[in-house]
Amino acid sequence: MFAKLVHLWLELVANNYCDGVYLSEDNLINLEKENSSQEKKSFHSFHLFIAENIQALLLVEKKINELYYQVTITFDSQEILDFLELINSKIDLSKDNLDTIYSVLSNPINKDNPEQSFIFAIMKILTEPLAFQDNYLNDYSQHQTIEVILRNRIEQERILHQVTQQIQQDLDLLVIVKMTIEQVQSLLQIDRLLIYQLRVPIKQESSENIEYIDTVTYEAKASSVIPSLLNFQEESCFNNIRDSEKKYLEGFYLAIEDINHSNLDSCLKELMQKLGVKAKIAIPIIVKNKLWGLLIAHQCFTVRKWKSNEITFLKNITEYLAVAIYQYNSYHKLEKQKQLLEQQVAKKAKELQDALIVAQVANQSKTEFLGSISHELRTPLTCIIGLSGTLLHWSKDLKNNLSLEQQIRYLKIIQDSGRKLLELINNILDFADIEAGKSLLYMEEISLENLSKMIYLSALEIGKNQGIKVNLEYNISKDLDLFYCDGERLYQILLNLVDNAIKFTPYGGEVIIRMTRNQSQAIFQVEDTGIGINKEQIPLLFTKFQQLENYRTRTHSGTGLGLALTKHLVELHGGFIDVQSTIDKGSTFTVSLPNSPPIYQIKSKISDKEMTDLKVNKTIVVICEDDEIGTFLCQLLTAADYQVIWLVDIYEAIHRIRLINPSIVILEQNKEASLEVCQNLKSENKDKLYLMVIREKISGSEWENLSNLGVDEYLLKPLQPRILLRKIAKIINT
Ligand code: ADP
Repeated sequence: MFAKLVHLWLELVANNYCDGVYLSEDNLINLEKENSSQEKKSFHSFHLFIAENIQALLLVEKKINELYYQVTITFDSQEILDFLELINSKIDLSKDNLDTIYSVLSNPINKDNPEQSFIFAIMKILTEPLAFQDNYLNDYSQHQTIEVILRNRIEQERILHQVTQQIQQDLDLLVIVKMTIEQVQSLLQIDRLLIYQLRVPIKQESSENIEYIDTVTYEAKASSVIPSLLNFQEESCFNNIRDSEKKYLEGFYLAIEDINHSNLDSCLKELMQKLGVKAKIAIPIIVKNKLWGLLIAHQCFTVRKWKSNEITFLKNITEYLAVAIYQYNSYHKLEKQKQLLEQQVAKKAKELQDALIVAQVANQSKTEFLGSISHELRTPLTCIIGLSGTLLHWSKDLKNNLSLEQQIRYLKIIQDSGRKLLELINNILDFADIEAGKSLLYMEEISLENLSKMIYLSALEIGKNQGIKVNLEYNISKDLDLFYCDGERLYQILLNLVDNAIKFTPYGGEVIIRMTRNQSQAIFQVEDTGIGINKEQIPLLFTKFQQLENYRTRTHSGTGLGLALTKHLVELHGGFIDVQSTIDKGSTFTVSLPNSPPIYQIKSKISDKEMTDLKVNKTIVVICEDDEIGTFLCQLLTAADYQVIWLVDIYEAIHRIRLINPSIVILEQNKEASLEVCQNLKSENKDKLYLMVIREKISGSEWENLSNLGVDEYLLKPLQPRILLRKIAKIINT
């Protein structure tokens, strides 16, 4: 501050030199030489300028230490006259000058109005904070004028101010650092100023991993002759930087005047010599209590005595840079978080949108399901009610009776419609059970050959009406015939596929059923030459209530439950289902099921003889006069590996049953007499013979009656293969 005041006085003198007189201690006669020690001056130094428009005295009464001075500033003529009186005897000035001074001071024109701008400048200096009082006067050589010192100081302030402004304007960190080090290098005339940054992230080209290195990231040089150290990496010596991190965090910095004569660590010294560095400074850049890097100044051609104000300035620069880096990092972190949040919001929005679409599709599918189910219910019901009404009507009119063929045709349609209804309701109930997790598999060992025959027969039956050729390609060796699964469910799975294959294949087409297996799994294929399925629609196939045709316009019946149910059943077995299809060429559905024998299966040690004794009696006698039912029972039961004997005459039957010794007798006759005979048979064979009757319908009292006669089970028409087979399997197994 004192230096600034002196500078101000010197400026005043310089600007008004022609108009006034300037006096300072230089004008005093050398007191040391001329006078005795008692006559020492009563002040330290002074600067006095006297002109017509301004008289100003800066009197340094006492120098307390390097920083503090006791100073008097006055513009008062009388006070200045008093001071002149004091030094009068010791002043070395021409008489002319002295006369001018005295005349001006005795008759001041603007006595009370010294130049205002000068006073303002003084006030500004006096009110400045004292921060700038470091030893900078000592730092500058005697030859540097105060003006140079001040200019430097102002330039330093300007650079710091500029960094602050750039930080506020949020310029790119790269720009801030680059501009700053270029300006600082130029101002302090440093040969090479660089930033050695720690933990710079580097993304490896080949991998996702990020590697971190320490390297020079910014550099400013005094000339192109000085080699660049940009991207310079050093592994051995610079590792010490990390070891010294704690020291740096506590305020340590390095300032070396002469590398060759320094006590620098030998590794670093050698490196500096190799890089041609004569003097250096290294100041830490600390960001959020972590060493981010170093601001390093190199002097390459000469040694350099670093001045304390240069070091202070560089320290200030590192602090400002630390703020910029922190702000930049925080901004980027926020930016990343913002992007992450945006991504999360977008993802959630997409999920919600997808969920909405799924809900809409489900809703639409349900509506379509209701539409189709009412159509599916209504069609057979209309047939049943309509045709049974017709039959009733004509049965009353004895004269104009319907022909027998017509009656049979109508009854057949009624029966078919009833079957369809039953199948539909069974499907819906099955599906509800499976969805509710109620449906468990009844795992058993079945014969794949028998299953193939049953499916083939059913397919022939269904296909016959629609002119579809059915082929069975069975490729399973005898030793692999037995397979663990829920036989009934597997039959249901295959029947569903066969049913669809026939339904979606035009008249004259072909359906092939294939079966193969190895030790661990069996593969079932149903191929058709039908209408095929669009690629885009394949993912919808196994979704419940999905029919690929719109229910209002479609030409095929169904509820869209079949394949969803099939898939559930396959998955319950631990298998999978797949489909390949080409429009207008056909589709192939493939089901793969694992062979799942029970874990606790114990190897049998029973001898062959015991085995024969234990052999299950699988002989069934069917007593039936109706050709259709008789054929149906024989085909179905033979396919399921039972020995079936079909007898038509009841009386002959009684006689032969005694010889055949069957385990089950199925009786499709409504005669009390035959029942009595059966009752006799039962009493002879007791527990060994199981008796089943087939009825159109059965009332509670009738069933009571029948069971009293020894009948064990009844079956209702139309016969349901699944129910029939399940009941028979149960009886034989027990
Ligand atoms: P549905 O009872 O309506 O037949 P499914 O679930 O069995 O229900 O079948 C769903 C839809 O898949 C059918 O409506 C039909 O559009 C299509 N589909 C199934 N099997 C075939 C096939 N073999 N060929 C062509 N389309 C088929």
